[in-house]
Amino acid sequence: MAEVILKNVSKIYEEKIKAVDNVNIHIADKEFIVFVGPSGCGKTTTLRMIAGLEEISEGEILIEGRIINNLPPKDRDIAMVFQNYALYPHMTVYENLAFGLKLRKLNKSEIDNRVKTAAKILNLENFLERKPKALSGGQRQRVAVGRAIVRNPKVFLFDEPLSNLDAKLRVQMRAEISKLHRELGATMIYVTHDQVEAMTMGDRIVVMRDGRVQQIDTPLNLYNEPANKFVAGFIGSPSMNFIEGKIVEFDKFKFQSKNGKFTFNIPDKYLPSLSDYRNKSVWLGIRPEDIFLSYDNEDKINNDYNFKAEINLIEPLGNQTLIYFMFEDIQFVAEHRGFLSIVKGTNKTFVFNHNKLNFFNTTSEERIS
Ligand code: ATP
Repeated sequence: MAEVILKNVSKIYEEKIKAVDNVNIHIADKEFIVFVGPSGCGKTTTLRMIAGLEEISEGEILIEGRIINNLPPKDRDIAMVFQNYALYPHMTVYENLAFGLKLRKLNKSEIDNRVKTAAKILNLENFLERKPKALSGGQRQRVAVGRAIVRNPKVFLFDEPLSNLDAKLRVQMRAEISKLHRELGATMIYVTHDQVEAMTMGDRIVVMRDGRVQQIDTPLNLYNEPANKFVAGFIGSPSMNFIEGKIVEFDKFKFQSKNGKFTFNIPDKYLPSLSDYRNKSVWLGIRPEDIFLSYDNEDKINNDYNFKAEINLIEPLGNQTLIYFMFEDIQFVAEHRGFLSIVKGTNKTFVFNHNKLNFFNTTSEERIS
């Protein structure tokens, strides 16, 4: 059972920088877990502490129930794949794959067996005699993954392994690593700053910010029920629209934007959770796909949630069109499925899906649900 547990783990650098702050994560055996967050949020440091490449300042890390804080990396039964795959240029693919095993003094036939099995899994059988310079970026990355596979580790650690590849290859390798996970049935911990990579690969995702865990959940739960404004804004592209305002009460509960210009009645379903927010400020969040051009979704039209605005930018992406507009001095982005032949400068009526609103506490930034 290669479960990995982080208990109150912190990393404090000499300059008293708390790069990782009291992190608690329970990674199940055979789970594919992704650490995601913006640059500097502490994801690589966390991974390196699991690998044994960084000392753990506070807390404990357990692999298979054993505390590994003081165990050297080579005894942790893990293998790590880095962004910079650093293959030995003078060695063939076979020798690159075999190198670590030779150091471990495995016998020749065992090495041959492991190298050939890994090469088969990764479709590298025809490249075993080539040197790295005669390989494509994707093939080199596969050799780097192969070096981890031959070690037959309990836990695989990946540190942004696809960042050096072009967009198309990244998508392909993403699928290959997910497939590998299913085939090997190993625990995998994967670090990335790319939320699409995280959403498509992870059984669960750990969202980090400033060294702290913001939320640990499945991709869909993160998207539909973000714990706070940071997660809501980080997961999803384009990002959720946020409007600062407050809950006001006249004859009905209303949301009113900070500048007072944008007001609408709050649907009844949100009222129980907002009852403590009377006359208090909140952030309103609406995902771009929950704002429609009114003729798109006639059935969803409700006068309360309609507004007319001038389009200030159109981004046609082929399968979707992003529409940017200003309404009452607030910038919005709406996502339209498919191609749309409108030009900037036109006035259009938009309607937002009042069943898909999100409210956040302005002080704690936590989601009000
Ligand atoms: P990136 O995606 O840019 O790699 P990250 O989320 O992986 O970012 P880390 O590399 O874990 O972030 O760094 C976390 C924080 O720790 C950053 O603020 C970084 O500047 C700091 N840090 C990292 N290594 C050291 C070090 N050796 N000494 C001091 N501070 C460090």
